[in-house]
Amino acid sequence: MRRRPVSVVLTGLVVAGAAVAAGPVAASAATPPPKQAVARGYGGAVVSDTTESTAAGIAVLRQGGTAADAAVAVAATLGVTDPYVAGIGGGGYFLYYDARRHRVVTIDGRETTPAADGPTMFLDANGTPLSFPTAVTSGLSVGVPGNLATWQRALQRWGRFSLGHDLQPAIAVARNGFVVDATFRELTRENQARFAQFSSTRDLFLPGGALPEVGSTFRNPDLAATYQQIARQGTTAFYGGAIGRDVVNAVHHLPLAPGATLKPIPGPMTLADLRAYRAIDRAPTRSTYRGYEIDGMAPSSSGGITVGESLDILGRFDLRHMSRVQALHHYLEATRLAFADRNRYVGDSSYVRVPQRTLLSDRFARQRACLIDPAHALASPVAPGSLTGSGACRPATARTTPGNEGAHTNHFVVSDRWGDVVSYTNTIEELGGSGIVVPGRGFLLNNELTDFNFAPTQGSAPDPNLPAAGKRPRSSMSPTIVLRHGRPFLAVGSPGGASIITTVVQILVNRIDLGYSLPAAIAAPRASQRNSATTQAEPAFLAEPTTPGLEALGQKFAVSSTSPLDPSISIPPTIGVASGLEFERHGLVLAAGEPVRRGGSAAAVVHPAR
Ligand code: GLU
Repeated sequence: MRRRPVSVVLTGLVVAGAAVAAGPVAASAATPPPKQAVARGYGGAVVSDTTESTAAGIAVLRQGGTAADAAVAVAATLGVTDPYVAGIGGGGYFLYYDARRHRVVTIDGRETTPAADGPTMFLDANGTPLSFPTAVTSGLSVGVPGNLATWQRALQRWGRFSLGHDLQPAIAVARNGFVVDATFRELTRENQARFAQFSSTRDLFLPGGALPEVGSTFRNPDLAATYQQIARQGTTAFYGGAIGRDVVNAVHHLPLAPGATLKPIPGPMTLADLRAYRAIDRAPTRSTYRGYEIDGMAPSSSGGITVGESLDILGRFDLRHMSRVQALHHYLEATRLAFADRNRYVGDSSYVRVPQRTLLSDRFARQRACLIDPAHALASPVAPGSLTGSGACRPATARTTPGNEGAHTNHFVVSDRWGDVVSYTNTIEELGGSGIVVPGRGFLLNNELTDFNFAPTQGSAPDPNLPAAGKRPRSSMSPTIVLRHGRPFLAVGSPGGASIITTVVQILVNRIDLGYSLPAAIAAPRASQRNSATTQAEPAFLAEPTTPGLEALGQKFAVSSTSPLDPSISIPPTIGVASGLEFERHGLVLAAGEPVRRGGSAAAVVHPAR
């Protein structure tokens, strides 16, 4: 544990470089200050989805906590205020720039497959893959959660406070409540039918059987007590103790509401699976783009490799001096190609050999970049590249099929006064995860295992992302830290399932090549090409003057505005909810999030002025 000679007095707590006792941190259901998507200042910064989670992080930074301490406070508070995309029922990927050692390190806190599951887990008795909605709302899709282990590991390595201390802001918000806003109500609406199937979920999120009213106070005393138990007993309360037993029980004996119409499949997770869970320290992926070092998340996420390969391809073109249509065309073509390679070669590296070095090599980027035709879009699905570099520069199509991918999670960023930086994407997979709240515990369980391909997708070639006992499903989460001369320049990331990768690439291209400021790079309309015939686009992207030019090159676009779980449920046709930091001169930090998407982000700094 890092101990720095700092002493801060705040809200009655004296913090002096070592673990401190749990104490009060101001939080109540008073109307929070309006959300601010951009902030600039000194001494540390946070951008996250909700005002309460950002305030929690800022409070811990003010107490003298590191970025790791603040990140735990933010993540735990998101479990209260953003419970459909965050919390201890899920997993994620934690990137940390350690200012003392001048390096980026990562923690893989991805969910794992229970020991009793395996390759046929998502096939029915006839060997037919289950439908995606059937698999999502089930105990079967619940992976062994990794978030709590990630927080503990991050604090062990870089924290100044105890887990119990860093959970206090979240406990206060869970106990005192937060004010329901239109976004929370809307996200609940998108899940209303599913949540009504489980008594524990209905009781928590559909008070009186209805959507929570905007302006009402939402309290989660069960989660406050769960966090408090973890604060007292440590993470073993979850990974083998009483909370873990309740998780296992919920997955085996689904808490169905009387009159439920769904008959979800239970799951085989055991207490031994929880005991065996480990968050894994990993080296980041590294690539170079226009002189910047891009550090990302290695497998089990495909994020770092696919962002890196896309940028390696784009690095071979001078986007800055192209027309906007050509720059966007190249962006779409680069991610199209990189997704073909991701789908064919990337999975959990403990189970499959991932050719990471080749995929991030200059030679491979050259081989892929030569396929880009400035006059025509490639026909998808394009075939993956050859790892041996054989074959002429001739585009080939493949007989591959798309896998299932969710679209909801959260990404947040934190920095501290010492220059440490966190870029952390975490999730429970679908919006609302499996839909199962652990009875009496106040949190939703993930459905992360649906990120596996249920059946092979790569034609006659092996599929690296099929289920196996103990395996981690391939993710697209792409928490990213960009270094300039070895020091942080940017930290970015986003939710959005597989569109996370394209969102991160698009933001970096906007910022580095196209002359946008970071807030503008985040706010700009998005399009996401993932080796499919049509590119997912936001309506605002289609309204841009560049779209006819792109269509003339053969780019095809479609807007996606229905729930992947139920086409009768409309969802906003947006892509991602990004957040980022830019490190300017003399310790000045620009913190930026979404002005509009999913209700906007909450950005804040410790000191607005020096
Ligand atoms: N399950 C997704 C992934 O790991 C993240 C959740 C989402 O954004 O949909 O890539």
